[in-house]
Amino acid sequence: MDLTAFDPIGLAPLLVAPAVGSWLGVLIRRLPRGTPVALARSRCEACGTALGPLELVPLLSWLWLRGRCHHCRAPIDRFHVGIELAAVGVAAWAVWVAGDDTMRAWLGSGLGWTLLALAWIDLEWLILPDVLTLPLLLGGLAATWLAAPEALGDAALGAALGWLVFASVAAGYRALRGRDGLGGGDAKLLAAAGAWLGWQALPQVMLLAAVAALGVAGTLRLARGRAFAGMKLAFGPWLALATWLVWLYGDLPD
Ligand SMILES: [Zn+2]
Repeated sequence: MDLTAFDPIGLAPLLVAPAVGSWLGVLIRRLPRGTPVALARSRCEACGTALGPLELVPLLSWLWLRGRCHHCRAPIDRFHVGIELAAVGVAAWAVWVAGDDTMRAWLGSGLGWTLLALAWIDLEWLILPDVLTLPLLLGGLAATWLAAPEALGDAALGAALGWLVFASVAAGYRALRGRDGLGGGDAKLLAAAGAWLGWQALPQVMLLAAVAALGVAGTLRLARGRAFAGMKLAFGPWLALATWLVWLYGDLPD
């Protein structure tokens, strides 16, 4: 990477990442519970004091207050600083791989942040909210149109096939095992992956996600024994991770 050719605008995702992370934290905490995401003001979770503007500055306020509420000194949930750091990590990764391609840095950050929120919510709640997967799908079509208009057809076909393939796999699983193992949210997430990556990347995304999910499930089962066998595992985080890796690094060598 040639640092002298670095466009400062290409680094801007890093500067906004803490604020984005703090917004993602609001989405992760409120979307699955059906709490309004925009209206409610942030409050201390222990004493209920509304947070002032300075206390809402991501990362810095946490350091400045040493992780405690200024009013009641209760420790602030590490979740907030965790999601803010994760958002910075995603942006740093996207900017690093994009090099001097400013548009790719921004698109990658946007994709990565949305996938991060989806993966986090799916791990905790086993759902992938439509209000995130559907805009991600449209965002993928828009990103393709911006970055490579000639590939828009591949992206649209990717979205359609992604949904169709996953819905068929889910129906097959249901027929075979007599229970739902894969959710409708996963189909929409794979459709979004198709919109971002084009239909050609779908087999690779599915393969990577399945290998990662089976590897983790196998490890957990070995570690925790048979009690784990009937437990539902989130597949969304692995789909999200696979989509992210294929977006960053493209086709793996054959
Ligand atoms: Zn407090």
